[in-house]
Amino acid sequence: MPEPDRPIISRIQPTVRHQVVIIGGGNAGISVAAQLRRKRKALDVAIVEPSDVHYYQPLWTLVGAGVAPKEVTRRSEERYIPSGVTWLRDAVVEVCPEDNALTTARGTRVEYEFLVVAPGIQLNWKAIPGLQDAIGRDGVCSNYSYEYVDKTWKFIRDFEGGTAIFTHPNTPIKCGGAPQKVMYLADDHFRRSGARDKTNIIFASAGGSIFSVPKYAKTLTSVRERKQIDVRFRRDLTEIRPETKEAVFTNLDTGETEAMHYDLIHVTPPQSAPDFIRNSPLANEAGWVDVDKHSLRHVRYPRIFSLGDASSLPTSKTGAAVRKQAPVLVANLLAAIDGQEPAATYDGYAACPIVTGYGKLVLAEFDYELTPRESMPFDQSKERWSMYQMKRFGLPPLYWHGILRGRA
Ligand code: FAD
Repeated sequence: MPEPDRPIISRIQPTVRHQVVIIGGGNAGISVAAQLRRKRKALDVAIVEPSDVHYYQPLWTLVGAGVAPKEVTRRSEERYIPSGVTWLRDAVVEVCPEDNALTTARGTRVEYEFLVVAPGIQLNWKAIPGLQDAIGRDGVCSNYSYEYVDKTWKFIRDFEGGTAIFTHPNTPIKCGGAPQKVMYLADDHFRRSGARDKTNIIFASAGGSIFSVPKYAKTLTSVRERKQIDVRFRRDLTEIRPETKEAVFTNLDTGETEAMHYDLIHVTPPQSAPDFIRNSPLANEAGWVDVDKHSLRHVRYPRIFSLGDASSLPTSKTGAAVRKQAPVLVANLLAAIDGQEPAATYDGYAACPIVTGYGKLVLAEFDYELTPRESMPFDQSKERWSMYQMKRFGLPPLYWHGILRGRA
């Protein structure tokens, strides 16, 4: 049969079998599929992905600040499933590693020789009573959802003064810097609109420090001092009361709760691995896919690999980290297919472009040891206009045309 020049869209069948099955067609899943096809065209690869849209999530920070419309972050999934790869448009509900098989929501049994697990992270909106009903209304917003990200900009734009709270939950999250980036942009906007003098900005974070890497934490501490932001660590948002515009925080050291009034609140929801992973034999104690942090191979099931936000890799959950994980995973997966031991190694590299205002960005790059791993020939802990321009105009095309095509 001639090689198809399009993705193969699978019909619903009781049982299918593929050499390599990838769970999730997001940043990580598509990157791996594209690189596998470039390296070995004859491989039979299938992606299980329920959504027909693909999002470039890192731009949501700037969408929430009115810099870009949200529609530019959304494209058809089909465009990015590599040619010749089969797309099962369905959600995985169960993985049975002992049988080398998984089950989908529509009841298909998918058998694999090798499995790549990349279903991303789960946003647990319901874990905070009141949040699900309040989000998108009366000053409650979040850049963590395509549906509501434009409400962030609406509420910031319309804000006339009062208390603006920005939260960071007591769980791992994707893009650890995102809860702060929106706050620095909001501060900048309030200064332009004249609302800042009438505003108290509070960063209520369940964490104990502003950033995990000391070099960048130093810069961010001076940014929050300059911006006169009231930082309260070890405060975990545990309830929203929209009728009285109160946010309830639990002090993680004393266990006491405190209700704070808000006029605007940007919530970063608690996050976890998806339930079907947490409840599967693939999970570690914390619920993440239990892989070796250097080879990305499962610690108990040698036919299984994982990367991206759902994996147990102890580094920052970012697309930048996925970019360095994908080639390692692909090399080690191909070695495993060939009956060899995995030799490629991931060192924990992650990057976080921390926007500190309109036209200002600190490009944090670091590894497992939290040692800076800067790729530019200058001190990246300084706020820079050039790095902001790179995030705004350079990284989106790199994502759509390079990373998702397996070229970068
Ligand atoms: P995703 O890209 O989220 O993809 C997961 C895929 O799995 C989705 O397509 C989903 O539909 C699918 N899926 C889910 N459940 C199932 C199932 N049961 N069966 C099959 N498929 C399933 N990263 C950066 O590098 N820089 C940044 O500046 C940055 N900023 C960010 C700002 C915000 C506001 C947000 C939300 C994220 C940001 N990120 C940033 C993080 C980045 O987007 C993620 O780390 C990256 O998308 C992770 O890739 P992934 O493939 O693991 O997950």
